[in-house]
Amino acid sequence: MDTIYLDNNATTRPAPEVVEAMLPVLKDSFGNPSSTHAVGQRAAFLVAQARREVASCFGADPSEIVFTSGGTESDNIAILGALRSNPDKRHIVTTKVEHEAVYRFAEHLEREGYEATYLDVDQDGRLDLNDFRAALRDDTCIASIMAANNETGVLSPLEQIGDICRERNVLFHTDAVQAIGKIPLDLRRLPIDLLSLSAHKFHGPKGIGALYIRKPLRIAGLIIGGQQEQDIRGGTENVPGIVGLGVAARLVGEESEKMHARMRDMRDRLEREICGAFSFAEVIGGSVPRLPNTAMVAFRGFTAEEILIGLSEKKIFASGGSACHSGALEPSRVLLAMGIEREQAIGAVRISLSRYSTDAEIDRLLAVLPEVFKKIGSHSRATSAAP
Ligand code: PLP
Repeated sequence: MDTIYLDNNATTRPAPEVVEAMLPVLKDSFGNPSSTHAVGQRAAFLVAQARREVASCFGADPSEIVFTSGGTESDNIAILGALRSNPDKRHIVTTKVEHEAVYRFAEHLEREGYEATYLDVDQDGRLDLNDFRAALRDDTCIASIMAANNETGVLSPLEQIGDICRERNVLFHTDAVQAIGKIPLDLRRLPIDLLSLSAHKFHGPKGIGALYIRKPLRIAGLIIGGQQEQDIRGGTENVPGIVGLGVAARLVGEESEKMHARMRDMRDRLEREICGAFSFAEVIGGSVPRLPNTAMVAFRGFTAEEILIGLSEKKIFASGGSACHSGALEPSRVLLAMGIEREQAIGAVRISLSRYSTDAEIDRLLAVLPEVFKKIGSHSRATSAAP
């Protein structure tokens, strides 16, 4: 039986074109892009080509792309780089549903003496734009609001948020790690100053990403060494990773609306059939704009952990909205911030599709689920979970 991978918001399978492009770079084009000889210049050429591919994927200029080690580093550089470039402004505005790379980093910055406001979201995971406007202060340097939530897929109104930031002279950073490759993003149109992306979320390799910095904005660098990447991120470039990122970005650029619609149709059918079959199932964020690949379904009366174990016994891999630490059932911070009851949040399972997902895989998941619930039966740990 083949495995069925439905955890694409955690990471994705590298596209065959990506692997094919990276192998010869690992073997032969091993030069240091800063070297002036031919071997180095070949590597520099490949880096420049990838930069163009990444930029054109969302309408940016190549000079606006800084390669980083991934989403976490891009988020950290965007926020702290902006703060360090604006020493008079020490306040950050963000939300309670950001990824740890923003949320925990903001908490860390508070301990360093900066100030942060974490905005609430509603039951569907949406930010109230009036609250957002009210949270901006004269000393607010940057607002960091994710483009799409990694757990629920719920989208943020980037255009409106960016417009408000412009009115108030606040920089707007968006963590678009989950959005790239799933929804179109056009930076010629969107008022975004800084944007983070990570290759492994759209069929590229791990450990490589980029930060978009709108020209002519300059932010302080965080990794100081050689003056690579406009002196924002020193260190010899990860050339094979950058080449892989470039190809993954090109594939995203080639993806059509049709592909996104196919993913959405599969996801919607999955949710419809699950909710039709199990009265205790509920889709989270189902009535608001969200990514076409993500289904977050809460199964009341069960824990995500036991459902995921049941699925993985059938070689189907998804993930939970709840993490299980040392036997204690911990519902997801994001779901709790949405006001979802603990009992429901504990049973939240995230099923995330990719461009390689098939109808046959969805059929198999739907066929297996009744067996999984039957096996767990009345022994669910949800009933004995600590409040
Ligand atoms: N931001 C979001 C929304 C994510 O989903 C992730 C990864 O899970 C990250 C940031 C971190 O990206 P990376 O794994 O490339 O550091």
